[in-house]
Amino acid sequence: AELDTLDILVLGVILLGSIAYFTKGSLWGKQKDPYAAANNANGMAARPARTRNFVEKMDESGKNCIIFFGSQTGTAEDYASRLAKEGKSRFGLETMIADLEEYDFDAMDTLPSDKIAIFVLATYGEGEPTDNAVEFFEYIKEDGVSFSQGDEDAPLSNLNYVAFGLGNNTYEHYNTMVREVDRLLTKLGAHRIGAAGEGDDGAGTMEEDFLAWKDPMWTALAAHMGLEEREAVYEPIFAISDREGLTAESPEVYVGEPNKMHLQNTAKGPFNAHNPYIAPIAESYELFKVKDRNCIHLEFDISGSTLSYTTGDHIAIWPTNAGEEVDRFLRVTGLTDKRGQVVSVKALEPTAKVPFPTPTTFDAIVRYHLEICAPVSRQFVSTLAAFAPNEAVQAEMNRLGNDKDYFHEKTGSQLFNIARLLEHVSNGETWDKIPFSAFIEGLNKLQPRYYSISSSSHVQPKKISVTAVVESSVVMGRKDPFRGVATNYLLALKQKQNGDANPSPFGMTYELHGPRNRYDGIHVPVHVRHSNFKLPSDPAKPIIMIGPGTGVAPFRGFVQERAQQAREGANVGRTMLFFGCRKSTEDFMYEEEFAEYKKALGDKFELVTAFSRETSKKVYVQHRLKERAAEVNELLSQKAFFYVCGDAANMAREVNTVLAQIIAEGRGVSEAKAEEIVKNMRAANQYQEDVW
Ligand code: FAD
Repeated sequence: AELDTLDILVLGVILLGSIAYFTKGSLWGKQKDPYAAANNANGMAARPARTRNFVEKMDESGKNCIIFFGSQTGTAEDYASRLAKEGKSRFGLETMIADLEEYDFDAMDTLPSDKIAIFVLATYGEGEPTDNAVEFFEYIKEDGVSFSQGDEDAPLSNLNYVAFGLGNNTYEHYNTMVREVDRLLTKLGAHRIGAAGEGDDGAGTMEEDFLAWKDPMWTALAAHMGLEEREAVYEPIFAISDREGLTAESPEVYVGEPNKMHLQNTAKGPFNAHNPYIAPIAESYELFKVKDRNCIHLEFDISGSTLSYTTGDHIAIWPTNAGEEVDRFLRVTGLTDKRGQVVSVKALEPTAKVPFPTPTTFDAIVRYHLEICAPVSRQFVSTLAAFAPNEAVQAEMNRLGNDKDYFHEKTGSQLFNIARLLEHVSNGETWDKIPFSAFIEGLNKLQPRYYSISSSSHVQPKKISVTAVVESSVVMGRKDPFRGVATNYLLALKQKQNGDANPSPFGMTYELHGPRNRYDGIHVPVHVRHSNFKLPSDPAKPIIMIGPGTGVAPFRGFVQERAQQAREGANVGRTMLFFGCRKSTEDFMYEEEFAEYKKALGDKFELVTAFSRETSKKVYVQHRLKERAAEVNELLSQKAFFYVCGDAANMAREVNTVLAQIIAEGRGVSEAKAEEIVKNMRAANQYQEDVW
């Protein structure tokens, strides 16, 4: 199962393109940090003149511990700042956290041995580095080849490091980043202190894995560096000061704008993870609605921007927190009356960065910039215990923070966010002693959510479709169900666009008009993230797509594209789509559209359906795939591309297993051999996954 030359060429170009995209061209030394200037102009906390030499930076700022993070969704960054905080408060380490993309690594061999580098590295997708770690990874990989372990010239023999990885065991390449970086650093002569930790999101134990890893690590590090533990006292990293004389109407005050250009209404490209495009929604509708399950389709108009996409890319949507959750947060923290107060936030130490532009208001920080609805970390509970409104509450917070089992017993099924937890533990009493800095440090930045683009760039280059299922789940003993942040926001936008003057999906309301009414007329901040999930360049090549539920999203784009190519007279190869949902009458999305594509593609297109709740025995896409074993095997030997999209936890893994079985049986090879064939297909990009 190999690719022909043309495909390899095209994939190569895509790969190069992606590297160029991810590294923003910096491998070629054109521009080291394209955001440096933009950020300063953006009104982010004033940054000192920047060096990309981290050893110099540590010297200048008197640091002896640097904590690098490779983060995609903010968790690794959060862990990095927690380690920084803990290292300082418990051991008196002079810590700084560092975004991997903001430094060069050629100075790595000059870090003196009495200092320490900590790497907190998430693995993304198929064993890949996160976007901000691409360049670092390339660098140590390239250097790594010329040195072997134990080599006296090992260039990093001065380097002492600590490593923790964030991964997901449901993916083929579990925690590849930390494993690889650890291996390469050792090979380059560096010394690891303590064990390299691994957190598993797949098992849902990330936070506990992190907590279990860090204590022995601190012990080892303290022994190595001769540090003495001291009573940890909370010290704020940010100073928050009232700006009397300014109001939310003052032109220099940020009320939710992501950066200075947006504040001044002069936003322009490049649009990216630091600078969103405020995109109009051209159209939105419900694909299905069954009881409390909604699935929506939205079309983002990018014609007014420099944004572009190709079929298979992702769009990132920047959500806004629900008004009810913002109110709850401000109420619990005693900030309701001060919500409109204009404040400046300044980092109290030179290496810390304020994660949003200021001056701004508490309301804007909580609504637009902090992930206030996410799961609560047990460590954060410990930190907040010191600020409890009374002793009984403090004792309870300490117990929750220190006793893993108790914490999970009390909070596990509740889907508490921070405000709900505080409210619950204090029985409604206000927590007005918590320094606001603790929230900026302890909560993540509000993250954009990614969606697999469900349209074809060939058919509609200036309109990006999204297919999203609205997140909600019933919580025992709670009146209101849990509601996902971004998808309920999108549902509210859909309701507004379709004539609802006061949209409130499930009682949630949103500031849909955005800061200074800039989102009026149904606009949402977005950016595009390019992916390697791509159709073969030659439409004649057969493709097999497995996309149950919203996993069908990119395949709607794929089939839309091939139908159009067929209409244009191209020779389009066999196009098989395995789609699954609960019932043909309930959640079978795009049914009519696929019938239209069928008209253009004729026998070339086949939609194979699996409805899990129509028969006594549940039927899933992998069962249908198995039933079509002979044909699937035949198409693969014709070098068909094989795609899987959707649920990473179960479906994608089972599809992988079934495919190996199909190959083993069809080709009369052992299961082990078949698994190897599947692995090689992945390596050659003949097998592509887009799972979450
Ligand atoms: P969130 O608020 O982020 O919650 C998501 C989940 O996190 C919850 O269901 C819950 O399990 C957990 N959680 C959140 N808060 C808590 C809490 N306080 N306590 C306990 N658990 C909690 N989705 C689609 O519908 N369509 C797509 O095409 C699509 N494509 C994607 C492509 C990629 C590459 C990726 C990474 C993801 C994709 N997703 C897609 C998923 C999407 O990005 C979002 O994760 C999803 O829509 C939920 O977002 P939300 O903000 O509504 O939910």
